[in-house]
Amino acid sequence: MIFILDTNTPQFYNDLSETIRTFFPDAEISLSEYTSIIEQDDFLLKCTLTGSDSLLAQATLQKDSAMLCSYAQKGIIPPPSGSLLSKRLSKRIVKQSVYFLLKEYTGITPPWGALTGIRPTKIAYEQIKAGENREAISKNLSRDFDLSPSKTQLLFDIIDSQQKYIEHAASDIDIYIGIPFCVSRCIYCSFSSADSLKHKQLISPYLDALYRDIAAGAEIVKNNGRTVRCIYFGGGTPTSLSAEQLQKLVTFVGENFQTPMEYTVEAGRPDTIDEEKLHILQAAGVGRISINPQTMNDRTLEAIGRQHTAADIAKAFAQARKVGFHTINADLIAGLPGEDLPMFQKTLTGILGLHPENVTVHTLSLKKGSILSEQIHAENLDGHHKVQQMVDYALTVLKQQGYAPYYLYRQKYMAGNLENIGYAKQGHAGIYNIDIMEETTDILALGSGAISKRVYPEQGRIERAANVKSIPEYIARIDEMIQRKRDLFTQA
Ligand code: SF4
Repeated sequence: MIFILDTNTPQFYNDLSETIRTFFPDAEISLSEYTSIIEQDDFLLKCTLTGSDSLLAQATLQKDSAMLCSYAQKGIIPPPSGSLLSKRLSKRIVKQSVYFLLKEYTGITPPWGALTGIRPTKIAYEQIKAGENREAISKNLSRDFDLSPSKTQLLFDIIDSQQKYIEHAASDIDIYIGIPFCVSRCIYCSFSSADSLKHKQLISPYLDALYRDIAAGAEIVKNNGRTVRCIYFGGGTPTSLSAEQLQKLVTFVGENFQTPMEYTVEAGRPDTIDEEKLHILQAAGVGRISINPQTMNDRTLEAIGRQHTAADIAKAFAQARKVGFHTINADLIAGLPGEDLPMFQKTLTGILGLHPENVTVHTLSLKKGSILSEQIHAENLDGHHKVQQMVDYALTVLKQQGYAPYYLYRQKYMAGNLENIGYAKQGHAGIYNIDIMEETTDILALGSGAISKRVYPEQGRIERAANVKSIPEYIARIDEMIQRKRDLFTQA
């Protein structure tokens, strides 16, 4: 489906495209100034913004010269004009005109309304900071973003869960360490270097570069008077390293960083875990691990490229409990190919039988570059409605079982335009997850593709320094990667 976008606000092209894809996930969108011929089946979406303090955004949808729908959105912009706030509000008014136009045309009410490309909690937090009470926030979110009462309530539940963790010292810093290797590649993964069988020869030189990154990172922490709040090993699958490699790595981390408030290792794939590795992690002070089933249906596990069964998940949980882990997260995915609601229900029941302290419910995201995105499109999955039912079912059951939602994020290309939600039993919320989602904490990120962040809360800005994604490039350019982080954390 092709949309030709004719607008006098081309600077909002990305935002308007996101809004169109909320209703038409597969839409190809071009600006009219770059399109010479409009075919018979193309939609022509015109959107014009006029005025300075009192704005009017008018949107129309046409096909084959016939007018299908029109919508006008008014808004007032507070002075001074040209400010960041006025630009933001102008964008919102333009997006609203297109959102309500397409809502009227399609008859679809998206689960998150007009919220795209935004962390939903951010808006609620901004309004709390501005002194609004919850009733006013609900009204504002409904008026400005067409947000449903149930999603607004979800935001409030998450904000309640985060209260203990959201405020902390400005000197706090989180450490992220990336291990970009896995034992096989899941078909929904867009992470090109994830297969450690194919990239085995890179593991040793990668770790050598990573040691240098860690040592330099420790100097940055020390020289800038920082306190390590969380250490988080992600990937890939950190436990795809051998026991010997893992032992050396966690020992080196322990020698370089002080003991954090929270220490997490993603042990995502049960086929990478054994008691020896679990003992190594526990002895190093790791308190939180992830064992990620994704689904408890063996046929789906095979179909998505995981080389383990549901029974292996249960075995890994039993091993972790035996070794003494008290906080285990289990990830699952709603909307996996071939799965219906009863299969999802079976997964959730199976996972709850393992009594994880955290459950993270993802909605399948068909990221570009994944094998799955090349095979199918989001709307051809079992249907957005079914995915919505799965996500709603998980929310109801998990709340009944004493889990509270504590963080939330949305990604592009998510089935049903839904969300990922982390749930936790009382006292088991993953602090790093809150920090990274709410962008309230500096993050020193080590390893290929890892992105360090420096947060300037007073100015409402974030500066970033990214390590290159390619593993060979990361190894070859490790000095440059280190310098980027030094610059980030020493600048004013
Ligand atoms: S475990 Fe994660 S990183 Fe590894 S292949 Fe699967 S989705 Fe990708």
